[in-house]
Amino acid sequence: MTQFNYQNGRLFAENVDVAEITSTLRTPFYCYSKASLRKNYLAFEEALDKFNSRICYAVKANSNLAIIKTLGDLGAGADVVSEGEIRRALASGIPAKKIVFSGVGKTREEMEFAITEGVGQFNIESKGELETLNEVAKKLNKIASVAFRVNPDVDAQTHNKISTGRKEDKFGIDINLAPHLYQKAAGLPAIEPVGLAVHIGSQLTSLKPFREAFKRVADMVHIIRKAGHSLSQLDLGGGLGITYNDEKPPELQEYAELIQNTLGKLDVHLTCEPGRFLVGNAGILVTSVIRIKETGNKRFVVVDAAMNDLIRPALYDAKHGISSVLQPRSENTVLSEVVGPICETGDIFARQIELPELSENDLLYLKSAGAYGAVMSSTYNSRPLIPEILVDNVKFTIIRARPSYDDLLGLDQIPS
Ligand SMILES: *Cc1c(COP(=O)(O)O)cnc(C)c1O
Repeated sequence: MTQFNYQNGRLFAENVDVAEITSTLRTPFYCYSKASLRKNYLAFEEALDKFNSRICYAVKANSNLAIIKTLGDLGAGADVVSEGEIRRALASGIPAKKIVFSGVGKTREEMEFAITEGVGQFNIESKGELETLNEVAKKLNKIASVAFRVNPDVDAQTHNKISTGRKEDKFGIDINLAPHLYQKAAGLPAIEPVGLAVHIGSQLTSLKPFREAFKRVADMVHIIRKAGHSLSQLDLGGGLGITYNDEKPPELQEYAELIQNTLGKLDVHLTCEPGRFLVGNAGILVTSVIRIKETGNKRFVVVDAAMNDLIRPALYDAKHGISSVLQPRSENTVLSEVVGPICETGDIFARQIELPELSENDLLYLKSAGAYGAVMSSTYNSRPLIPEILVDNVKFTIIRARPSYDDLLGLDQIPS
């Protein structure tokens, strides 16, 4: 279901020949498909059609302004976790009202900025945060709408580093304390408690953890309402997984049915915060072979992209599919390790995969690199950030250019 397909043996991003892009833009670079973003968004929207709901794109998955704007133009709001992300959402044309401010460590300054800009909802993760927000809002003579992010103590059964809903994780408030905090919030002058939020992790490939979490949230809604509070908003977070290789994530329809079965009768307004689902398979990372290095019994394909450009394999043991941009004539394959140039043993994209017989300058691409790719990149080993391009049918636009070495060095200052 992606927009990256071969035509006569050449990889196309929509109707752009990917190899041809490299005649004007050096590898490595990220390449995104606008049609793919649109398709993913509209599919999600359609699945939620029967609910009173909205989609707030989790900006941290890919925060390029052109990506946020593409989704914002389709109607998306934004889920953000920092002042920088608020600024990005606003700069992309998303109205402040449609922004949800999440995160366990919002600073006073960030709260002040968010309130001043008119951010629609704060998802609160601790009593201390609630009290600080009340102080900040009071000082500004404003009322902040608050949802409590609860920690339902559910194991999302995903990679440890992206599991966020177990009681030992830093996220959310103990779900059993939610009624108490809700009560407290209702008594604060500058706070209006409006609901609950839950986000149990990312890249979930089973519905079961969602089911457990949503059921606990539903129970809590009844308890809070019984205590006499009004509760109109439920924020279900993101987390829906995508296919990188052979994962079988739930269908959108099944996800929607689950929401219906667990929360459908609550008469609440729902917010969903998909990140990876919207952008993950809308992007690829295009890279060139620098050289083939044979040692002992291994063949290393050294490419010009590295872990600083895409850290998911090193950080999450993620396995991105890798293929040739130009399909090889021969069907012969060789067992290969695909590695970057960085001085770290962990700088490895794939182990023991079958690849064609490659040589210098051959083009490869890593699949499903649109989410948590460019946003997590760094300049480690003094490698400038790589460009991002957005394809729209027959044309592409550079949506982030490659900085120069002067830009890179210019950030430093030698004391006089
Ligand atoms: C990261 C995050 C999301 C998005 O998660 P995906 O797995 O990319 O869908 C949504 N909500 C919150 C609070 C998050 O931290």
